[in-house]
Amino acid sequence: MLLDSFGREHNYLRISLTERCNLRCFYCMPEDGVELREKSEFMSNEEVIQMAQTFVQLGVKKIRLTGGEPLIRKSAHDIIRELGKLNVELAITTNGILVEKFIDTFRSAGITSVNVSLDSLKPDRLAAICRKDYSDRIYRNIQLLLNEGFLVKLNMVVMAGVNSDELVDFVELSKDKPLHVRFIEFMPFNGNDWNLSKGTSYQEMMQVISAHYGAENLINMPEKENDTARCYAIDGFEGTFGVIGSVTHPFCSSCNRIRVTADGKMKNCLFSTSETDLLAPLRNGEDISQLIGDSIQSKKAQRAGMNSLDDLLDRSKTDANRSMVSIGG
Ligand code: SAM
Ligand code: SF4
Repeated sequence: MLLDSFGREHNYLRISLTERCNLRCFYCMPEDGVELREKSEFMSNEEVIQMAQTFVQLGVKKIRLTGGEPLIRKSAHDIIRELGKLNVELAITTNGILVEKFIDTFRSAGITSVNVSLDSLKPDRLAAICRKDYSDRIYRNIQLLLNEGFLVKLNMVVMAGVNSDELVDFVELSKDKPLHVRFIEFMPFNGNDWNLSKGTSYQEMMQVISAHYGAENLINMPEKENDTARCYAIDGFEGTFGVIGSVTHPFCSSCNRIRVTADGKMKNCLFSTSETDLLAPLRNGEDISQLIGDSIQSKKAQRAGMNSLDDLLDRSKTDANRSMVSIGG
């Protein structure tokens, strides 16, 4: 069991399959893109599987594939099918563009729930946020996933003056569709030119939604262990909505997450700037279990030691991190 010094059990691994992407969302991908590197610097298919197996032996119960866009990796089908054989819950976060090619693969790997990022219901606006226009395909593939019986979670990064006027439209989607909408506070990473006023806070989001539906009609869903979102149901709605307040309402006290980047570096926190190289030792035939345990032991109580909002506002600290696209969100 991977216990940290605060007694938190770490049983949820997020593996990035690539730091490249077919979109260039401005809050995630730096304007100049990510530096192209030799293929040998990244985990091969076998190394991804080996890495996953090691974590499963150490107690990981859930693996989420992410990126970059995980589905653009040519071998994504093979990796997903192989990981489906492990004794874990397998999940994926995708921008949805290539989903129609993966329905059978998801099924055969036992994936039942898919997280899709969607930041606007207005095609032109979505294209502007993503700096590329695949809006029709994304909308179509979300519907396809629903038709095929997958549980769909929509992730929306809410940004003031960009898409914050669509909060209620997104909640309305859950009226007659079994969709779980998750509103995410905009977070600072290298190259995304973040500042607090560009985001919409948990409180601001709840004010807008409560004003529309009436606070008395928002039903607090029971909190699940390790859940990052505060979730709500509205009477008569098929789906639900939730808010992930990583900036103003951090959920670190129940964090169970570990990340491995596409180049095989372990991050014990999304915001941590220190990383543990697992790939080189793995290639040398070394047992990486001790390194993993040590990294978990060194995990800080909150946001990699950024305990206050002031710390998060210090761009020198957040700029020292990678861009989100090369971490794996
Ligand atoms: N390409 C896939 C996708 O877009 O779903 C997976 C990778 S993406 C980095 C994973 C998640 O991180 C997405 O839901 C995205 O919206 C979120 N994300 C990226 N940058 C973010 C930021 N600065 N603040 C909050 N969420 C962010
Ligand atoms: Fe690509 Fe996902 Fe980042 Fe958008 S949020 S640039 S789709 S990795």
